[in-house]
Amino acid sequence: MNTLKRTSLVFAVLAFALVACGLPAAPTTQPSVTVVEPVETQPAEAATSQPVENEAGEAVLLFDIGMHIEPMGETAQGFQSGKNDYHNPQFFERQVEDIRFLTQMIEAHGGRMTIQAQSPFTTVALESGNTILADLAARGHELALHFHEDAHLGKNPEPLSVQQWCDVMKEELGYIMQAGGVSDVRYWSGGNLYVNLYEAAECAGLDVNSDWKSPATQSTDMSLIGVNPWRPAGGTDGSDFTLFTQHDPNGAIVFLPEGQYDKENFASMRRSDDAGGDEAYFEYLKESLYASLSAAQSGKVNVFHFTVHPGEFRGDPQDPFGVIQRFLTEVVDPLVASGQLQWATYSEMADAYAATEP
Ligand SMILES: [Zn+2]
Repeated sequence: MNTLKRTSLVFAVLAFALVACGLPAAPTTQPSVTVVEPVETQPAEAATSQPVENEAGEAVLLFDIGMHIEPMGETAQGFQSGKNDYHNPQFFERQVEDIRFLTQMIEAHGGRMTIQAQSPFTTVALESGNTILADLAARGHELALHFHEDAHLGKNPEPLSVQQWCDVMKEELGYIMQAGGVSDVRYWSGGNLYVNLYEAAECAGLDVNSDWKSPATQSTDMSLIGVNPWRPAGGTDGSDFTLFTQHDPNGAIVFLPEGQYDKENFASMRRSDDAGGDEAYFEYLKESLYASLSAAQSGKVNVFHFTVHPGEFRGDPQDPFGVIQRFLTEVVDPLVASGQLQWATYSEMADAYAATEP
């Protein structure tokens, strides 16, 4: 590594360590020795904030599995959604059990998920005193919002104002914070066809986004595929991606692409009849993960992640979620051990990206 590169890396690490510790950045008038101190006294923070390359100087790919909890039943805004209903205690409990099982499996492999929820899951948890979301947060999983615009704003949400979107997003974030016992939620998925989505999200206090998929076609535009995050200059109506794919250094939102996939329907192919079932889907995830490792660049923040739903991929009752277990054991664990892959929640990915910005 040349000196310039090493110096800029050290500064990026320092900047991130300061942010991570909640300490104010040292004013430029202070001697530089006071800047160095937090890194020396807090090696753990410095270590986790250095994801751009491993000890061998190779690129690192930040990795996570996200979960979309879907709006099932009447939402807080009074719209009916989904085939099932979280107000049915048996259904709610079954899904909670699945979430607990899967998150514990991932914890055993060193990972923490980004769990994305909304009402009525959050409100049923609150009303019934179920502590699932608070338990997950206490164990280090990130709590986030999965915003289904039609379930929270009604059938034709796109013409509604930024303020209307912002208010309802805030309302939903309030239930997550209350049920999860957290004071901050930063990531959301959904709302994908609203041109002013990023304004609304910023207004609601959100700053990390991903999982763009057209709700109409269930596909992802190839221009959004890749491993390097950016700050979109604006949203999309689903056909014009000019602003979305344009980097705005002052943009409030960090967008995390999902990885180096080669199909527009990668996010929905698990449900297609010709995808070949769970095993074939995870084989495709493995290939895409390897392609993402190849695309990862040293000196940049590189990310790869995919989504599961509660109960999805449960498979054989004798070996629940075996396909995920095997993927973690056979594909993920060796790459984590070799330093090529590093677990990070979605907000941690965004923070790692922000730490590399000039
Ligand atoms: Zn969804």
